[in-house]
Amino acid sequence: MNATAAPEISVVIPVYNEEEGLPFLFERLYPALDALGRTYEVVFVDDGSHDRSVAELRTQFERRPDVTRVVVLARNAGQHLAILAAFQQTRGRYVITLDADLQNPPEEIARIVATMDAGADYVGTVRVRRQDVLWRKAASRFLNRLREGTTSIHISDQGCMLRGYDRSVIDAVNRCSEVSTYVPALAYTFARHPVEIEVAHAERTVGQSKYSLFRLIRLNFDLMTGFSVAPLQFFSMSGIVIALLSIAFVVYLAIRRLIVGPEAEGLFTLFGIAFFLIGVALIGLGVVGEYVGRIYEQVRQRPRYTVAAVLEQDSDETRRLPQLPAASLPAPRAPAEPVRGAVE
Ligand code: UDP
Ligand code: MG
Repeated sequence: MNATAAPEISVVIPVYNEEEGLPFLFERLYPALDALGRTYEVVFVDDGSHDRSVAELRTQFERRPDVTRVVVLARNAGQHLAILAAFQQTRGRYVITLDADLQNPPEEIARIVATMDAGADYVGTVRVRRQDVLWRKAASRFLNRLREGTTSIHISDQGCMLRGYDRSVIDAVNRCSEVSTYVPALAYTFARHPVEIEVAHAERTVGQSKYSLFRLIRLNFDLMTGFSVAPLQFFSMSGIVIALLSIAFVVYLAIRRLIVGPEAEGLFTLFGIAFFLIGVALIGLGVVGEYVGRIYEQVRQRPRYTVAAVLEQDSDETRRLPQLPAASLPAPRAPAEPVRGAVE
């Protein structure tokens, strides 16, 4: 394949400390793509790994330079920003995203491509038998329902990253400059013919999930605040309801005083009600804070990610930053940094 001609399919795979799993991924991914009989490129994006992932990707690039490209980020930006960094580099008419841990079977790509051939510009997926721990599945069910109720984004299974996007959708996504986002939801807002299909899902056999409970909560806040102001409206509405109830209560007390006389009991009930209202007010403040924090991050307009290097076939176009020469790529980086949020 000519490296400069645009391939039909671009496969985007974010990689963060996946050294054990990558050889297995390569073993299944490339035969599955070769079997499609279409021109393709695989765009790996290393999201600041500090294990040997970059070395593995580099070896694979040397093995299949005609169809492999590697974007190396300078530091961990988070899965969704890493995918956006890779989107900027894709050239295919169809862009398909996939996790690196083989939880999304590469063989399912054929069905996504077939659905896009049939006219879909956005192929969402639903994992038929999701292989994850129980609490993750329960939390996802709840969050899916919450998002369905508060946003205009209709995705049955928001967590599945095995998805297909048409070039028109990718071009629109590439024009966005959001710092905290959720790729499937963002792309959905530009889709004209979204279609969902069912896909298989596998357990993670090597390595560990990169999402702690805290990171999952942050990600879901990104999703909620990025695509809806319903949480804010919820607090304005409850404010109105509570104010109306309070007025009714005061009127009742005034009448009662005239008929029965003054009352001094029910002190602890009053405390109970007061504490409840303080709790509601604090949650409301927190929700406002989530939005304000994201607005602050957005207005600072810092770069969302830094591309340290791009490995691709046409050597004239291969860009490498001086401080990260090719020879030093496989070398381990500075000691493991704490995982950073998607906004840095
Ligand atoms: N990932 C990433 N950057 C991160 C966290 C994860 O690029 O900061 C990648 C990771 O390597 C994997 C994919 O995103 O390819 C999904 O991550 P993981 O499998 O840990 O998530 P889970 O399946 O548990 O939701
Ligand atoms: Mg996974």
